[in-house]
Amino acid sequence: MNKIPLLGSAIDDLQKRLAALDSRGYRARQVHDHLYRRRNYDFRLMTDLPRSLRTVLEDHFVAQPLSRMEVFHSLDGTRRYLLGGSGDDRLEAVWIPDERRDTICISTQAGCPLACAFCMTGVIGLSRNLAAGEIVAEVGLVLNHVYGAGQEPRRGVNLVLMGMGEPLANYEEVMRAVRLFAEPNGMNISQRRITLSTAGVVPKIYELASEPIRPELAVSLAATRDDLRNELMPINKQWPIAELLKACRDYPLRPHEQITFEYVMLDGVNDSRTDAAQLADLIRGMEAKVNLIPHNPAPELPYRASPDYRILEFQSILRGHGILAFVRTPRGRDISAACGQLAARTSSSPPRPQASV
Ligand code: SAH
Repeated sequence: MNKIPLLGSAIDDLQKRLAALDSRGYRARQVHDHLYRRRNYDFRLMTDLPRSLRTVLEDHFVAQPLSRMEVFHSLDGTRRYLLGGSGDDRLEAVWIPDERRDTICISTQAGCPLACAFCMTGVIGLSRNLAAGEIVAEVGLVLNHVYGAGQEPRRGVNLVLMGMGEPLANYEEVMRAVRLFAEPNGMNISQRRITLSTAGVVPKIYELASEPIRPELAVSLAATRDDLRNELMPINKQWPIAELLKACRDYPLRPHEQITFEYVMLDGVNDSRTDAAQLADLIRGMEAKVNLIPHNPAPELPYRASPDYRILEFQSILRGHGILAFVRTPRGRDISAACGQLAARTSSSPPRPQASV
């Protein structure tokens, strides 16, 4: 019988689960503290709990759901984590250290249903939605691997929900995970340091807008005309550009908040001067910035990255229209860890020895 993972349960949930095992109300708080603040996933090390309770917990539960982990190290410091539970499917998280900040890129689905033409995850299709506990475990396991189990991170991390999957297609579990990340008595990662990227599930953008705790919003655009966007991102047939941008314009931004538009740069496909001018027209007047992402290749994908000079020209056209625009440096390409390369592959480079979870 598979044991139930506790990670993913909020405090009220933990209280319910533990009530039958121990009558003292504060036990749930203690377990919560281990799971989220200390990232301690070993019941035996929860030594402030009575031994008898630790034994019962071990009999009924696992602390977190992921039992397998392989780590791939890029020359640029990026690490790709291939994680798995009891099933065959795999999910991936990426650690991206940078001079000023560190970022963890996490998956919200195993695979992805959206089939964007330029993305490897789209090529492999959807296996399943991830549970909140799995999404939270991605972050906990990466932090434990980087800093040591339970160690305080050297500095704050940013979380980006930009790994495998469409977060708004797994809305409930994703939001549950976001609330657990943001919980001050737990992982304590500010909601303003979490960014959710969507391909444009318009009704869910409206739902997100009404959440009391919600991440920052990024929207993947990739094209400025419906004919091209239909081809590159089939979700556009359901919610075309005008509807998507209306949802963005209606989105109630908090102080100093912007919407990020991501634009993957595909050589000869969407990177002309006209495209740049059309993009500027589309988002004119919005509190927004644009991230230009040079395409990351994979043998199965029929695109090349735009040459640097064209990306810079595109950026300067946007800037000329008064739009904030940045070029994303690809990270971890050598270990298939860059945007759009996540496809649960094990063979891109020899992994270092297995790390224990
Ligand atoms: N489903 C969500 C989040 C995952 S994709 C979304 O679509 O936003 C995260 C980002 O990577 C998106 O902006 C996507 O357009 C981009 N991307 C996908 N494949 C890529 C590739 N091969 N090269 C560069 N960026 C890519």
